Amino acid sequence: MSGQMQKLTGIPVSPGVAIGPAFVLGGAGPAVPPRRIRPEDVAAELKRLERAIQASIAEVQAEQERVRARLGEETGAIFQAHVQMLQDPGLLNRVRSLIENEHFAAEYAVYHTIQRYISILQELKTPIGARASDLRDICEQLLRHLTGRRRQELRRLSTPSIVIAQDLTPAETASLDTSRVLAFATELGSRTSHTAIVAGGLDIPAVVGVAHLMEHVYQGATVIVDGNRGTVIVDPDPETLRRYEYLARRFQFFAQTLSTLRGLPAVTKDEHRIYLMGNIEFPREVEYCLRQGADGIGLYRTEFLFLERDTIPSEEEHLAAYSKVIRAMRGRPVVIRTLDLGADKLPDSMQSAQERNPFLGLRSIRLCLRRTDLFKTQLRAILRASVEGPVHLMFPMVSTLAELRRAKLLLAEVREDLSDEGVPYRRDIDVGIMVEVPSTAVLADHFAREVDFFSLGTNDLTQYTLAVDRGNESVAELYSPVDPAVLRLVRHTISAAERRGVHVSICGEMCGDPLYTMLLIGLGIRSMSAPPHSLLEIKQVVRSVTVEECREVARRVFQMENARDIEVYLRQVARQKVPDLFE
Ligand code: PEP
Ligand code: MG
Repeated sequence: MSGQMQKLTGIPVSPGVAIGPAFVLGGAGPAVPPRRIRPEDVAAELKRLERAIQASIAEVQAEQERVRARLGEETGAIFQAHVQMLQDPGLLNRVRSLIENEHFAAEYAVYHTIQRYISILQELKTPIGARASDLRDICEQLLRHLTGRRRQELRRLSTPSIVIAQDLTPAETASLDTSRVLAFATELGSRTSHTAIVAGGLDIPAVVGVAHLMEHVYQGATVIVDGNRGTVIVDPDPETLRRYEYLARRFQFFAQTLSTLRGLPAVTKDEHRIYLMGNIEFPREVEYCLRQGADGIGLYRTEFLFLERDTIPSEEEHLAAYSKVIRAMRGRPVVIRTLDLGADKLPDSMQSAQERNPFLGLRSIRLCLRRTDLFKTQLRAILRASVEGPVHLMFPMVSTLAELRRAKLLLAEVREDLSDEGVPYRRDIDVGIMVEVPSTAVLADHFAREVDFFSLGTNDLTQYTLAVDRGNESVAELYSPVDPAVLRLVRHTISAAERRGVHVSICGEMCGDPLYTMLLIGLGIRSMSAPPHSLLEIKQVVRSVTVEECREVARRVFQMENARDIEVYLRQVARQKVPDLFE
């Protein structure tokens, strides 16, 4: 398996270069990749399979008991077929043989065998619907038990390693221990997937969307992850290894040079102050933002409080997290966004509702308006935390005025409750919305009458305007925040805000890319919130340009008709203005 160097390419989502041994996480996606294991790991893999089978049988039997009690003996007996399949010697021996003789990982052995059984049943052309779906069920169940151990596997990591996986959930990514995880790379994912966003806050190199990654990496292989260029190299030859050791040192040197900008303000050459804030998912990231010289927190994605745990957080737990952030920021503004749960951000305890189109479904403010218990608990905590410092409250994914009004009504109710109870809170906190759904951008003038601020969420605005799933690497080339259609909505929103005297900022990942800084300033943006690792690079651009130059860039961009031309042009200008950054 080892020997031949493999150079793979993906999407860089967190900068830096790391070199180390691979720690390959078992995993299952819609199609399970044919991952191989080392011959010496066969026994452990067979044990892992046995544990998954036993756990699945126990689960089916418990379910059978529950159904029997509720619906009677006959209905309960349906589950007997599942138990029989999970004990079927023919099926299990085939799975074991793929592990023992062909050294496939347990997930693939299960997946491959059961898929073959299903195809054979289908070829027989007998009424097999129920049996095939039973087989699909047990396949899913076994895979869940095999992959459900992933967090434990991650905790077992004892030497500094590079984590390799088909995919990582945002919660798994957040749980990575950066004292032992040097970098990570995944086969799935895209630039603005939430996994990528969490990676940016961890300050370790990361590359996602690496095609065929799982086929080429094996446990313990030497791997290089270049989070600047999006390259993953397996089994590098000595010369490549030396080159990347040099690049890693150079990156550190570059980071040190940039760090001289930390204490300096983000002011353009013609003295316009641009406010650079940090995006965070966890209170622990505040320190990193401060080290990077952030003027405040422009986006606190509070839903991650739910994603790190199995139970729903209490009001006191919300309050503790928010107070920690506000206190640490020592008088700098903190924009707390209410829960944006749903789509790819759902805790295990809320996974029950399967939606066909989760990004268009019960997500975010829509979920909060249904689950007012969760929402009001959070609103109480935000208001209570407001006595600690300047807090701004922001609703995500608002798509109609009715939603905004309903959310504000609930906020008013919470205020009244707190007043009745004599609980202190600030009465004058600003209330704003994310502009991230095209309908809201189009109606920005109406929304501007009812809020104190807008924050442009270009990650979702791009996804919804272009109908391109932000997390799907196979359509990633269609996804561009500088597509002219997206830019028109951005410009329209900024003008509506300016006309009504509403503050407007931007917090999508695009403002973390210094390539877009001039364009955003040229469009009138004076406050940006970005992943903390990118703040110094943005500051370097800000300090190298004038607002008039930026306006000219925006004028030129608006004459262009496609994202590619715009990207090429922006790179050209950026190279001229800040050659060190865009060599
Ligand atoms: C956005 O959509 O641009 C945004 C900042 O929110 P999130 O990435 O959390 O969806
Ligand atoms: Mg969003």
